[in-house]
Amino acid sequence: MPLEQTLSIIKPDATRRNITGEIIARLEKAGLRVVAQRRMLLSTAQAEAFYNVHKARPFFRNLVEFMTSGPVVVQVLEGENAIAKNREVMGATDPSKADAGTIRKDFAESIEANSVHGSDAPETAKNEIRFFFSDLDICG
Ligand code: GDP
Repeated sequence: MPLEQTLSIIKPDATRRNITGEIIARLEKAGLRVVAQRRMLLSTAQAEAFYNVHKARPFFRNLVEFMTSGPVVVQVLEGENAIAKNREVMGATDPSKADAGTIRKDFAESIEANSVHGSDAPETAKNEIRFFFSDLDICG
């Protein structure tokens, strides 16, 4: 299996409840390694740019407001099959539909405040990692 990197974000609902460590433990137990990490407050412009693909969706404004409502922890995760593995550990977007034992099932507050983001494909992972990190930030 190829060694991959993916972008993960621990969202403001999770930083507010001080559960970043519990979430990182789930990622690590699944075999994912944190190879870059930064805690930061996203600006409105950054959140809009990051979620640009959703700009026509009815929830876009609320999503940008939520993502700028408190600190996030942005991370590069590395591991075999890391993109799909992270999506599996995260669970479905809507926590009421997420499988038992997933991060979103256990921690998410709502479909919007769903605790984590993870890239969904190799090309998005590359672009999303580059959005937040340079090569100098990443140490595998
Ligand atoms: P993801 O890849 O599982 O994060 O899901 P999407 O790319 O479809 O959506 C991006 C983010 O937008 C989700 O993680 C949620 O935070 C938010 N979101 C998605 N669908 C909805 C929705 O129907 N209502 C609201 N309020 N937020 C949503």
